[in-house]
Amino acid sequence: MTAADRVRPSYVRGRRRAEDLIRLFSQPPVDLNLVATTLGAEIRTYELKPDISGILYRDGERRVIVVNQDHSIERQRFTIAHELGHLVLHRGQPVHVDEGFRVNLRDRRSATAEDVEEIEANAFAADLLMPAKWLRADVEQHFIDLTDDNAMHALASRYGVSTQAMAYRLAALSFT
Ligand SMILES: [Zn+2]
Repeated sequence: MTAADRVRPSYVRGRRRAEDLIRLFSQPPVDLNLVATTLGAEIRTYELKPDISGILYRDGERRVIVVNQDHSIERQRFTIAHELGHLVLHRGQPVHVDEGFRVNLRDRRSATAEDVEEIEANAFAADLLMPAKWLRADVEQHFIDLTDDNAMHALASRYGVSTQAMAYRLAALSFT
């Protein structure tokens, strides 16, 4: 294995874990409290510094996800899903602090091992909150016009995510 291999994100494992977890549900939005409980984690909302999205604490068997209470519900949901991604995918430190993770981090050549974990946690969050299978059914069966702002807003709110996160997800899945 070369150094370049080690800094490349891996998406397959996260996608499989997310697919297993969404079997708990028949439709969106995914209940993150139930997912957290299933994974033995507690979710807490606290007042945090504005630039801190979330914190993942691991102490023996205890796992606590702290999310910034001043962020929008959609952003809190993405943060929780992102921290669940770290919990499921990365061994990590006892305390992991996320300061506005870089969603658009794409330059693999300059990615550090830490960047790779952030990319993987974001990919897991997208797979968990906006499962490709559900989106495909919604978009194809209900003929949602993705150029219509109202339709995009309705789709995002059905999944409990921001319109921006939904637009990014649909582009990543090549719907747009
Ligand atoms: Zn992170």
